[in-house]
Amino acid sequence: MTRVDNVAGKVVAITGASSGIGAATARLLGAQGALVVLGARRTDRLEKLVAEIVAAGGKAACRTLDVTDRADTAAFVDFAKAAFGQLDVLVNNAGVMPLSPLSALKLDEWDRMIDVNIRGVLHSIAAALPVMEGQGFGQIINISSTAGHRVIPTAAVYCGTKFAVGAISEGLRQESSKIRVTIVSPGVTESELAETISVPEVRARIEEFRKISLGADAIARAISYAIAQPADVDVGEIIVRPTATQA
Ligand code: NDP
Repeated sequence: MTRVDNVAGKVVAITGASSGIGAATARLLGAQGALVVLGARRTDRLEKLVAEIVAAGGKAACRTLDVTDRADTAAFVDFAKAAFGQLDVLVNNAGVMPLSPLSALKLDEWDRMIDVNIRGVLHSIAAALPVMEGQGFGQIINISSTAGHRVIPTAAVYCGTKFAVGAISEGLRQESSKIRVTIVSPGVTESELAETISVPEVRARIEEFRKISLGADAIARAISYAIAQPADVDVGEIIVRPTATQA
């Protein structure tokens, strides 16, 4: 374990911690001395990750979480606070990306992206905000994307959800004088994100596009950096791309 000042001892709840960026963030922050609380639907994966972090000398707990369910998300935040006594940081990371052209009319997939990527973020904010306001401190880190800055074909709805995350984060930042609000916008990063794409030709193209990608630990380090700043320093946004890509 390499304890990191201003990360060690903080209670950090992470949504979507069962794979990809969320799992890498849990591993890194756990190794830096944070008390990490992991949520996602695949509980078996969360339990394995908690065991791994604890075996390495860290502190971690997990709870099954579906961010589309308002009550479940509130229970997850309550669980995090109860597990370690307070809530310093919430990382809103859970997300899905079933890309398709609008003309394919994949309305169920549009709904799922809106439910997880926007409503899920709002559910977590609604649960964490009263806790953090009551404490008089806290930090909310929302994972957006380079897709929150630039629209490409087949990604209209996904980009729309990430633009929304940007707007919600900026509004929350302006309204909060005690709570730090950070957007982390990854470029292409190794994860399971492309596995939800149901249109074969889109999936094949995106898999090719994703061959140049960052390791998920690169995004975890950006998240750790934002947390590690002093309480009066609010890192607004970090964009992290593979050096070799333009997108
Ligand atoms: P993964 O697919 O590996 O991880 C997504 C995570 O979200 C999983 O842990 C999944 O867990 C969780 N999740 C999905 N639906 C729900 C739900 N309803 N409730 C709770 N958890 C849920 O992809 P990434 O690690 O890449 O994705 C993490 C974030 O990073 C997303 O917001 C994504 O949009 C963003 N991002 C990723 C980029 C990339 O190239 N990888 C680039 C830019 C942004 P489970 O299925 O167990 O519930």
